[in-house]
Amino acid sequence: MPRAHDPELARLAAANVVAALRARGHAAYFAGGCVRDLLLGLRPTDFDVATDAPPARVRELFRSTSEVGAAFGVVLVRLDGCAIEVATFRSDGPYSDARRPDAVTFSDARGDAQRRDFTINALFLDPERWHGVARGDLGDGVIDYVGGLNDLRARVVRAVGDPHARLAEDHLRALRAVRFAARLGFTLDAETGAAIGAHARELRGVSRERIGEELRRMFAPGAGRSAAAGMLVELGLDAPVLDEPSRVATVATLAALPDGAAFATCLGAWALDRHAAPAAVLRAGEIDAVARRWRRALCLSNDESEAIRTELEILEMLAGGWLSAGVAPQKRLVARAGFESAMSLLELRRPDLVHPVRARMRELHGIAGGISPEPLLTGDDLVAGGARPGPIFGRVLAAVYDAQLEGRVTNKAEAMELAKRMGV
Ligand code: ATP
Ligand code: MG
Repeated sequence: MPRAHDPELARLAAANVVAALRARGHAAYFAGGCVRDLLLGLRPTDFDVATDAPPARVRELFRSTSEVGAAFGVVLVRLDGCAIEVATFRSDGPYSDARRPDAVTFSDARGDAQRRDFTINALFLDPERWHGVARGDLGDGVIDYVGGLNDLRARVVRAVGDPHARLAEDHLRALRAVRFAARLGFTLDAETGAAIGAHARELRGVSRERIGEELRRMFAPGAGRSAAAGMLVELGLDAPVLDEPSRVATVATLAALPDGAAFATCLGAWALDRHAAPAAVLRAGEIDAVARRWRRALCLSNDESEAIRTELEILEMLAGGWLSAGVAPQKRLVARAGFESAMSLLELRRPDLVHPVRARMRELHGIAGGISPEPLLTGDDLVAGGARPGPIFGRVLAAVYDAQLEGRVTNKAEAMELAKRMGV
């Protein structure tokens, strides 16, 4: 059984969809992001087909289909184990809510190219006439109504048509421009960049989910996250994206994180770049404020905002008194989820502390059963020993566990005796 996400199989399946439409007398091409990526020698994530066949006709022609974007004339065709989006050429009508067009009109390829956001995303490709980037001219089989091929060669992101008008229709395009430029290592066309800068504040009209989703994609591995963050700041988009004042600050911490870092760790790093003095960390109140604000601004999950909070708190403790704290609090910190993310931030903010912290961690591993041994004593043990469950349990168990971490109690009997002495 072919895997639906295998890009080579998806390309072949999409080529078969195009061939089937052609055989019935329709125009059909690869369209959008897959054309851009193929021409750049990159692996497209998915293959979209555009055609003059109306949706009802597409549904007739293929055995397995479903309607994914009925209002936009998009039909999902399943073929050869892959799912291919087949969109009927369309021109979008006026946008009254700056997000989705009021009406779509089916049109031809030229009209369809005009409604797309950037010239590099508005190319069509005839898979039967295209033989790969390594062979022949880049333009073989490319249908280009908007100068996209030139922009692809010049490595420029340029709006299709008047950039002011295109942004006014959909302000999310500002973030898409940054995302494509950062990921591909392209520059923004001057007029497009100027329009984005001029409209930056209007991003406030876009839903927080969509803003968060764009930032998540900009910070994904391989997406050029430091270029993206740099551009957001340069264009003044950092303010509406993060819902805080614009800040011309370095993105050095963010840039130096490993490429595979989690989104929450990227945000933690960016928070440090934006809100802490160089080589400093954030204090508890500041951590709380930024975690709350960004959670709302980016529609973060509970887990993500907790992860930002935890890693910044751990970092603050490591840079604060941790090295001179007692064994039990030291071990408890090392055992917290997010500790290794905090260490990756420590490496960038306080490299001087990494060696002493790691050395102390090695010592802690050798003390009384290591960092987080199974507790010698549990609530069940207390109950079995005749104690009545109550609010004091939690406090006593924590104190007994501290004693265990420090090696002051080493077996269950000693642990129980300590609990009794504490009045359980
Ligand atoms: P990615 O690799 O991120 O999927 P993509 O170019 O395929 O990039 P999609 O969001 O999947 O981007 O959209 C597919 C195509 O639809 C785009 O290439 C573009 O032509 C068009 N498109 C998508 N979003 C918009 C938009 N907001 N405004 C105009 N055209 C858009
Ligand atoms: Mg896509």
